[in-house]
Amino acid sequence: MKTGLDRDAILELARGMGKRAARQHKAPSRNAPLFDPSKADFATLDLFQDMEMQRAAAQMAGLENPYFHVHDGHLGPTTRVGGREYVSFAGYDYLGLNTHKKVAEAAKKAIDTYGMSASASRPTAGNRPVHEELERRLAELYGAEGALIFVSGHATNVSTIGLLAGPGDLVIHDRLSHNSIVTGAQLSGAVRMAFDHADLVHLEKLLATRRGRFNRVLIVVEGYYSMDGDVADLEHLVRIKEKYAAWLMVDEAHALGVLGNRGLGLFEHCGVDPARIDIWMGTLSKTLCGCGGYIAGSSVLIELLKYHAPGFMYSVGMPPAVAAASLQALDIMLKEPERVERLHENGQLFLRESRKAGLDTGLSEGYAIVPVIVGDSLRAVKLSNLLLEHGIFTIPVLSPAVPEKAARIRFFITSEHSRQQIKAAVEKTCQLLKQLERENFGLSRFASRRDEETG
Ligand code: PMP
Repeated sequence: MKTGLDRDAILELARGMGKRAARQHKAPSRNAPLFDPSKADFATLDLFQDMEMQRAAAQMAGLENPYFHVHDGHLGPTTRVGGREYVSFAGYDYLGLNTHKKVAEAAKKAIDTYGMSASASRPTAGNRPVHEELERRLAELYGAEGALIFVSGHATNVSTIGLLAGPGDLVIHDRLSHNSIVTGAQLSGAVRMAFDHADLVHLEKLLATRRGRFNRVLIVVEGYYSMDGDVADLEHLVRIKEKYAAWLMVDEAHALGVLGNRGLGLFEHCGVDPARIDIWMGTLSKTLCGCGGYIAGSSVLIELLKYHAPGFMYSVGMPPAVAAASLQALDIMLKEPERVERLHENGQLFLRESRKAGLDTGLSEGYAIVPVIVGDSLRAVKLSNLLLEHGIFTIPVLSPAVPEKAARIRFFITSEHSRQQIKAAVEKTCQLLKQLERENFGLSRFASRRDEETG
C-alpha cells in the first residue's frame, strides 16, 4: 500500500497535529484556582503530546496498532485473536511448558492448599514451603549458597541494583540492557555508564580510566540479549571484573532454558564456573512460565536482599501457585533436555533460512531470538500488520527500545514450533519486506546502512 506521503511529510504533519491539539487545550485562566482536583491535566504532559503525535503519524500512514491485541487463549506456537488462528512468534514460552499438564496440576494443587494469594509479604506472614523449595532449587542450579524470589522480574533488577549501588559507586552496563537494569542504575544514586553493546574492549577502557574514582563498581550484562539474540562472553567478563575488583551481575531472563545443552544458561554455554559470578539474576516469566524474578548468590547477598530489598520486603509474597508452577517447570526442563535440543534446532533453522533469504538478522546467534531488522519504525509496524493479515503474529520493536534505524520484528522461537511454521514465516517475511521495498514504504534497511557509513 502506498501512502502518497514520504516519512518526513508524515512526521511533519503529525507534529502539526500534535501542536494543534495542544493549542486546542484551554490554558487555565489567571483567576482559576491553582489546583482543581476534578480536572487533572494529564493531556498537557509532553509525553502525552508525543504519544498523540505518534498516533496521528501512524494513522496517516494507514498503520494498525500492533500492541494490546486480546488473545483468546494461551500463547504458544499458535494463538487465537478475535476467533482467528495465527502462527505466533511473539511469546517467550521457550520450552513449551506453559500448557504442560504437570505444571497446571502443580498450580492447582497449590491453590487448593494455600489459596490464590500469599496474603502478606514474605517476612511477615506470606512465606510458604513452596517459595523456599523454589529458592533452594534455583540456588542449586547455580551452585550458589542461596536464592531469593521476587514477585516481578523488573522489580528484581530495580531493587537489587538499587540496594547494592549508591552514591560514590559506579553501575556500568551494556548499552542494550533491559529497562529494569537501566532504571535500577538510575534510581540507585550511583553514577551510571553504558558500554557499547558486547564491546568488552570499550568496557575495559572505561574501567581503566575511571575505576579509581569510585568506591564500588557493579557491571551488569544480560546472558542472552533479548533484542539481538546474541550471547555475552562470560569468560572475558569474569577476567575484567576480577582485574578491576568489580561485582558482576548477569541477567539470565532469556538465557535460562535457552543456552547450554541442558538449558542451564550462560555459564553452561560458556563452560564457566557459576561461582565466579557474584550475582545471578533471572525471571520466572519465560522458560519457567510463571511470573517474577530471582537472585542467586552468596548467603550474605541473599540475607541483605531478604531484609532490605524494597521490592521484596515491602511487596506481597509470590502467589504460591505461581511458585509451584515454576518449580514444576524447572523440574521438567532439567529432566527433558530434548526440549532444549529442539529449541536450538528451531532457532538455528530460523536463522539459517533468514540469512539465506537475505534478511538482516543483526547479531543473532539463533538460539531462540532472531530479530529481522527492517530500517525504521514505520516499516517495522507495517510489516507486522501485513504478517498479521497473512496469519503470522509478531511484535515490532521500535525506538527507544532500539535505535530508530534498527527497528525490527523480533521473532521468539520455541521448541514447539514446527519446521514448516518456521520456513513459511521466513518466506512470508521476506516476500512482504520486498513488497514494502518496492512500494518505498518507510526507510529501507539498505538506505539506513548507507547513512551510518557516511556518519
Ligand atoms: N530482564 C530482562 C532481560 C527482560 O527481558 C525482562 C522482561 N522480559 C525483565 C528483566 C523483566 O522481567 P519480567 O517481565 O518477568 O518482570
